[in-house]
Amino acid sequence: MHGFSTSETGSVGLTHAPDSAAVLAARRRFAEELGIDPSSFTVAGAVHGCTVDRVDRPVELIPGVDGLVSNRRGVALFATYADCLPLLAYDPQAGAIGLAHAGWRGTRGGVGGALVAAFQAHFGSRPEDLVVGLGPCICGNCYEVGPEFADLFPPDVLAPGRGDRLRLDLREANRRQLTEAGVPGDRIETLDICTYESDRFYSHRRFPDGSRFAAVIALT
Ligand SMILES: [Zn+2]
Repeated sequence: MHGFSTSETGSVGLTHAPDSAAVLAARRRFAEELGIDPSSFTVAGAVHGCTVDRVDRPVELIPGVDGLVSNRRGVALFATYADCLPLLAYDPQAGAIGLAHAGWRGTRGGVGGALVAAFQAHFGSRPEDLVVGLGPCICGNCYEVGPEFADLFPPDVLAPGRGDRLRLDLREANRRQLTEAGVPGDRIETLDICTYESDRFYSHRRFPDGSRFAAVIALT
């Protein structure tokens, strides 16, 4: 089972929240909508890195990681987003799930490849068995970055922006990374929703008030 919270659920990000009680209430509402116990949420702290941890039982928060994997029922992997890309992965052979948070830094560092490697290391997964979903994020038309990004990313995931600016296609950069790690292209599914353009999802670039939506994946 997997899902995304929306702005109707309310912000589920604690880090920049002015009112943590409202955030916790929104998380409970989201759990209810998913039909799961809110205490099964295990939150990836998300520091724009590439560390992926294995989770065997629900833990409120795992700081310092941008990816989680598990093969246990009763653990709902949870991360929050506002323009960064959610990567959700499932290995039906190994019965394992994974979730990652990929902004430009994590993408540059290879968090998608690290997620695939974690499946291999912890569950003996074969990359060709993985099914990966790319969730809502800022799209390649809206995500304007500085000219220095020409040194950070391959030219085929960048496009010209205004003046000397560039535009970065986070989804395409991650899709390429996953296929390079051995995930077949036809097993990568993309949800073509831009957070900057859709007000159903929070966008840091559209409205930087600390609001976040969540992606969740769990074995049922
Ligand atoms: Zn867009």
